Amino acid sequence: MIGHKLILKMGNPILREVSSPFSKDEILSEPSKELVKKMWEVMEEAGGIGLAAPQIGILKQLAVIKLDSNSERYENIEDSEEFVIFNPELEILDETKQGFWEGCLSVPGLRGYVERPRKLKISYLNEQAEEKELIVEDFLATVFQHELDHLFGFLYVDRLKSNKDLIFENEGSKISEDKILD
Ligand code: ZN
Repeated sequence: MIGHKLILKMGNPILREVSSPFSKDEILSEPSKELVKKMWEVMEEAGGIGLAAPQIGILKQLAVIKLDSNSERYENIEDSEEFVIFNPELEILDETKQGFWEGCLSVPGLRGYVERPRKLKISYLNEQAEEKELIVEDFLATVFQHELDHLFGFLYVDRLKSNKDLIFENEGSKISEDKILD
């Protein structure tokens, strides 16, 4: 796995803080545009499919998500559009739990099996500071919950039901059938 110097790792107290929302003016400002650009660069360089601002030390409610079917790190995922999500609020539409082996650029080398609700509504502001709603389900719903957790000081390891569900990814032959993420 390619690491990235900018990405904070588990143990850094910043990852446990609650991020603050953006004002609409802030979203439209030049520093925010630059931040979004930097987040895409860091995410792509690290080979991730999502990144939240606190992971690069910015305690603001911003996440970027893009599933990539050509990813070398991930099997069995389909392309998604590029999501830039400011100030998200999450509503569960279907509580039925679904489990995936999650990874995280802030928790390198590990995977954990986490069960989360399978369908959600996300209310958020886009890059034009417009109010938007999005329905996400299946794997994408897990990715959104994982990234949004970062904005409120949670990591996927907090969502494990058992420590036995936490493994090193190079033991991953046991999980190769499953989708993984980070
Ligand atoms: Zn993560």
